[in-house]
Amino acid sequence: MKVYALPLHNQFRGITVREGLLLKGPAGWGEFCPFADYSDAESAPWLAAALEASEAGWPAPVRDRVEVNTTVPVVTPERAHELVRASGCRTAKVKVADKRSTLAEDCARVEAVRDALGPAGALRVDANTAWDVDTAVRSLTELDRAAGGLEYAEQPCPTIEDLAAVRRRVSVRIAADESIRRAEDPLKVAVAGAADLAVLKVAPLGGVRRALEVAEACGLPCVVSSAVETSVGLAAGLALAGALPELDFACGLGTISLLTGDVCGRSLSPVDGYLPVLPQAPEPDRFTSFPASPDVAAVWESRLSRVRALR
Ligand SMILES: [Mg+2]
Repeated sequence: MKVYALPLHNQFRGITVREGLLLKGPAGWGEFCPFADYSDAESAPWLAAALEASEAGWPAPVRDRVEVNTTVPVVTPERAHELVRASGCRTAKVKVADKRSTLAEDCARVEAVRDALGPAGALRVDANTAWDVDTAVRSLTELDRAAGGLEYAEQPCPTIEDLAAVRRRVSVRIAADESIRRAEDPLKVAVAGAADLAVLKVAPLGGVRRALEVAEACGLPCVVSSAVETSVGLAAGLALAGALPELDFACGLGTISLLTGDVCGRSLSPVDGYLPVLPQAPEPDRFTSFPASPDVAAVWESRLSRVRALR
């Protein structure tokens, strides 16, 4: 068992350091890294995912590489253009509806990203539940125009009912992210007509097998995204993306560049917009570069034993 503390390049979810714990078992390595504000009960599926990776391994993949998107945070249009060009990805996801950015600024950033991608690239936006229905309809209509066509919009509103209402009023496809992760029953999203796509994350869903069941049950096209893990956790996302019977959209697994380092020697950085479907193991000497303090390590060890006790 190893505890890591990896600084982030930019603040994300209010944190500046990503912490977690790596577990080794007969099948390999698993990552347990629920965010600090998650309760023990909410962290239980994260542990199930880590134990699946370390003890059982994953179902056989049907593809050996996965296309990924680059993510554009709240930056200037010039910077957004540079980031997309440098990524080598053909798909970009632009964060919108952030408190630090107006709709006009979001549109300017989206225009710059379209310019960088060219007409053949795919451009999606993520509002992370920020809007009410009317604001979502107005904003998505403008963003769709600025983008010269959006591929889809991720979670414009918080509730399933509001997603369904927005979906009826705009031509842009709607993807459910938070609604899938937090729902006791992901089928509700599909039944309510709330989304055209489902965003799946391995850790909060409780593992690759469980996520494959969710994909089948909801019957929607799926996109696999990360929870900003090290390459050990990203490999679980790639195992899911690799095993999905159909995968028609680029996945949100190209997130290693958000961290200032990695625990694996060959980090999962996209090459020409793709990542390989391969298990990852940390390198012992990498931990010495990102040591968790004894206090932080103790917090994670106690968290692990509390969440284990819930199983
Ligand atoms: Mg999202």
